[in-house]
Amino acid sequence: SGARVRRAQSKRLPQYMERGIDVKFSDVAGLGNIRLELEEIVKFFTHGDMYRRRGVKIPGGILLCGPPGVGKTLLAKAVAGEAGVNFFSISASQFVEIYVGVGASRVRALYQEAKENAPSVVFIDELDAVGRERGLIKGSGGQERDATLNQLLVCLDGFEGRGNVITIAATNRPDILDPALVRPGRFDRKIFIPKPSLIGRVEILKVHARKKPMADDVDYMAVASMTEGMVGAELANIIEVAAINMMRDGRSEITTDDLLQAAQIEDRGMLDKKDRSSEMWKQVALNEAAMAVVAVNFPDLNNIEFVTIAPRAGRELGYVRVKMDHMKFSEGLLSRQSLLDHITVQVAPRAADEIWYGEDKLSTIWAETADNARSAARSFVLGGLSEKHYGLSNFWVTDRLNEIDLEALRILNICYQRAKEILQCNRGLVESVVDELIQKKSLSKQQFFNLVQKYGCLDPLPPNI
Ligand code: ADP
Repeated sequence: SGARVRRAQSKRLPQYMERGIDVKFSDVAGLGNIRLELEEIVKFFTHGDMYRRRGVKIPGGILLCGPPGVGKTLLAKAVAGEAGVNFFSISASQFVEIYVGVGASRVRALYQEAKENAPSVVFIDELDAVGRERGLIKGSGGQERDATLNQLLVCLDGFEGRGNVITIAATNRPDILDPALVRPGRFDRKIFIPKPSLIGRVEILKVHARKKPMADDVDYMAVASMTEGMVGAELANIIEVAAINMMRDGRSEITTDDLLQAAQIEDRGMLDKKDRSSEMWKQVALNEAAMAVVAVNFPDLNNIEFVTIAPRAGRELGYVRVKMDHMKFSEGLLSRQSLLDHITVQVAPRAADEIWYGEDKLSTIWAETADNARSAARSFVLGGLSEKHYGLSNFWVTDRLNEIDLEALRILNICYQRAKEILQCNRGLVESVVDELIQKKSLSKQQFFNLVQKYGCLDPLPPNI
């Protein structure tokens, strides 16, 4: 027995195992027939012998295909939960490491653990990160992914047909997977999980409402009707937000109104984040491209770290990161000209809108930067930096508010004209930055400056204020 204890001690704790999975199929809603397919997989575990005796082949791998948040992970856990087997998971993006061999050895360790603790489900999220068709990967990272992919293939083959370790993988891009992965005996079963239907959404909302104090007369259909296009993860979030709303008001039940309000918040978030129309992407890209192209002309603002229109938390639509000399900034050492340049960058989106869309098709996405420009122009005047300065003493400032605003307006107009000039001189550059942004969503410093070099950035003479 001493030997057994020692052996148990030397055995490492499984690293990839998730303990205490108690997800059941009843926790996954709105999937219709798809659930039946997964119930069959549970039977491979519970009635494996019966399948084998009758010569039915047990698949080595199941591929769940569908957009993020539809419940792929949840389903894989439910399979393990219903079958009462262990659950091992990893995201394939973790395989893709800079160090050669790390990915492959992680795959090996993952399957080693799963085998030692069989029966088990191995869940691989984002399979496309490692399983991308080999020809599609260029550069040195490709070799590493090849090694990882090969290791994965070896592991999958090792369990083919045995039914004691079943791999479930998830992807949103089954179309780009390496054909070797989807050969018989590997991920030979694909299950497509679409976004939920109207009834599906009602069911999902109800599942998540089970553990919450809902009012008796909650109208789930009303909520489902206004959440077209949303996935389970978002619907689950609506219930959470509604619950917070209830708590804040000191009530004890969640009402339809709470849910509708929460749905609206989730919906607006979605508009900002994911479901931008192609026209919207273009406008946001123009917004950011204009700022970057104007900024690159100015000595204190041309250290552009990256340009992005990738959705992010918070309310910004896009982002141009200019690395500022912070010391200079906080010590107020920015020159008068730098402040004007800053204002010029902030009005660039509005100027771009005028050039590319025309006065009567202006959007409003530049509103935020226009606000920045306005307050910067005011500080400029109040700080005594304009030709006429009003910032000398506070007590008479109030009487001169109008004049200050007029002078700020004059500054704004001059900056606006300058932004327009720069943009007009650099139409080709702006348009290519827009195109690249729409394609890639983000441009690194290098990518942006490559374009600047290619098109050359024409710098009209600085204005004279
Ligand atoms: P995916 O793996 O497809 O990106 P997840 O399974 O991670 O999606 O879903 C995240 C969360 O959203 C789940 O934990 C669950 O709370 C909720 N959810 C998603 N789809 C469903 C569904 N069909 N039924 C119930 N809840 C769901």
